Amino acid sequence: MTSECLVDVDSWHIDVPVAECGEPLVDLAGSEVLQVGPDRAVRVRLAVADRLVVAQSLLPRGVRLLVVAGHRTDGTPHGPHATGGEVDVTLCGADGTPLWLGTQVPDVGGPSRLADEVADDGAGAHRALLGRAMTAAGMVNHPAAWWHWSYGEHLWALATRAAARYARVAGPS
Ligand SMILES: [Zn+2]
Repeated sequence: MTSECLVDVDSWHIDVPVAECGEPLVDLAGSEVLQVGPDRAVRVRLAVADRLVVAQSLLPRGVRLLVVAGHRTDGTPHGPHATGGEVDVTLCGADGTPLWLGTQVPDVGGPSRLADEVADDGAGAHRALLGRAMTAAGMVNHPAAWWHWSYGEHLWALATRAAARYARVAGPS
């Protein structure tokens, strides 16, 4: 069972203006392109869904993007994953079996930064694949967590020097 992503986002939240664009949250469960898992709905902003599809298209045949978490739907819009612009992603094979990227997905600490050296060469290669595809698709990686990527919210705004377009939103009831 996947536990909540606990990356720090509040440290970067100060002084970033947000012009909320009103884009809807979409459920990725119906996507024919993206693998969602393991067992709950994953909702993200529409433009994030588009970028994830682009990232999938940039991966080699037989490697799939596995979207583990999107907008947090616990009804309390605080902390990470509250804007709909944030996702936790990893890779899986064609049959949906997750690939190993060197650490468990929500575990900050240890070699959890994307560029950290990992003991397993295969894990390092998978991280490189994920990093190239997500970056090329326009997503920004959290500095402490290889799995946490965002678009449109404050971390993305700081990294790209653009205006943030996603404020924190409550999930569907
Ligand atoms: Zn996350």
